[in-house]
Amino acid sequence: MIQIKNYINGELKLAKDGTHIDNYDPSRGVVYSQIPDSKKEDVEEAVAAAESAFPIWSNMPKEKRSEIMINVANKIQERLDEFAAAESLDNGKPVSLATHVDIPRAVSNLKFFATAILHYASESHYMEGMGVNYTLRRPIGIVGCISPWNLPLYLFTWKVAPALAAGNCVIAKPSEVTPMTAYMLSEICIEAGMPKGVFNILHGLGQHVGDAITRHPKIKAISFTGGTNTGETIAKIAAPMFKKLSLELGGKNPNIIFADCDFDKALKTTMLSSFANQGQICLCGSRIYIERPIYEKFKEAFVAKTAKAVVSYPTDEKAKLGAVVSKPHMEKVLGCIALAKEEGGTILTGGERVILEGEYAEGYYIRPTIIEGLGPNCRTNQEEIFGPVVTIAPFDTEEEALELANSTQYGLASTVHTNDLSRAHRVAENLHAGIVWVNSWLVRDLRTPFGGVKNSGVGREGGFEALHFFTEPKNVFIKS
Ligand code: NDP
Repeated sequence: MIQIKNYINGELKLAKDGTHIDNYDPSRGVVYSQIPDSKKEDVEEAVAAAESAFPIWSNMPKEKRSEIMINVANKIQERLDEFAAAESLDNGKPVSLATHVDIPRAVSNLKFFATAILHYASESHYMEGMGVNYTLRRPIGIVGCISPWNLPLYLFTWKVAPALAAGNCVIAKPSEVTPMTAYMLSEICIEAGMPKGVFNILHGLGQHVGDAITRHPKIKAISFTGGTNTGETIAKIAAPMFKKLSLELGGKNPNIIFADCDFDKALKTTMLSSFANQGQICLCGSRIYIERPIYEKFKEAFVAKTAKAVVSYPTDEKAKLGAVVSKPHMEKVLGCIALAKEEGGTILTGGERVILEGEYAEGYYIRPTIIEGLGPNCRTNQEEIFGPVVTIAPFDTEEEALELANSTQYGLASTVHTNDLSRAHRVAENLHAGIVWVNSWLVRDLRTPFGGVKNSGVGREGGFEALHFFTEPKNVFIKS
């Protein structure tokens, strides 16, 4: 049994009270490792370490911080296959996805922010005849980073990298459901020369260690990615303490497919945006609106392709979909499918658990599912499912498409398929979303602002937005 450890003050440690939680391999439904069930006292230890390390790290030349972070990134790159195998085992995703997306992106996150900090300039505002203002941007101090299970190392490094690059000391908590690659990262940080106490990784439950991080008075900012309800819980604690908050929350993203689109490309992209990572990406499109002239043709092709998508164990090279992340999550998604039926939806394909053979028989597999016949206001079309389940519906006008797309409490991402350039601009401008992809999906330039509107979050990550978040600006005016 692998024993995952916390990374505090440069050392690997169990929880102070010796408790642990089982960690499951979702592809087989068995426990394969244990993680510390960290509590308040572990957070205290990490905060004390971070407090001692802060003067060293924040005053270190940024070139040196950058060098250490690049060293970490290179060491992940050297062990890419090992990291990808671990991510896939921990999360259930196909190894090919972890190899081509998750781990390379974690490396890019670290390299991107390690170099972005070298180009991060502060502003100055000259006042004629009066003097000049300049903005100092200093690190905040100790910051908390809390991340989810769907893209474990990818989203973990997406937060931690800008926080560290900006000169903060970090107390980070990966999801308890997928702790393995964050643990491997802590081993790499030790090898790469990360100074003690600068970066601390604590494992455990949201309501224990996550809560303790959120409440700690010396942790001055919280960067959180996860569900909207958890975000609300965190905001209720952190906002009255006047902590800086970045919340990247849930989505219920629309895909709008106009009749003038490139049909084959729209179909291929929709397959990906619906079912990549078993539909467990906050950016997946789960409500697909198709203009009526191509509705039947698109539906037929989409259903046929989906029915053929291979659901299998993560190391199977043929697998398009692997296991969903956990048994409770599988049950939640199957419950959403049952609700869709109760609400009058017709399952066009999928709608059930897949039982594989042999050692994978207890794994958590769900057939990709397309549902038709539901109105925009039902729970299925309003609530996040976060699994391989989408609904489809026709529309007749651009106005109707926009009304349908904007009809939820969420506003994270949207996808528009059209060859009409004016329409693409118009629709993009009128969608209530932080991100719009036209004739594409999940194309990411790390310099661009990332985040949602409405109940999908507060603030933006990415590029200089992230460095702004992790620094405190101070205006200095000098009279001429
Ligand atoms: P959760 O909100 O359940 O958990 C996210 C993290 O918060 C986990 O580390 C979790 O720990 C921790 N946590 C839970 N409760 C608390 C608490 N009271 N205080 C502090 N921390 C807590 O989300 P999931 O992990 O289930 O991830 C799925 C969700 O994340 C979806 O809603 C998805 O849309 C969203 N998401 C949003 C993204 C975005 O960029 N907007 C990107 C990716 C996902 P534990 O694991 O122990 O519960």
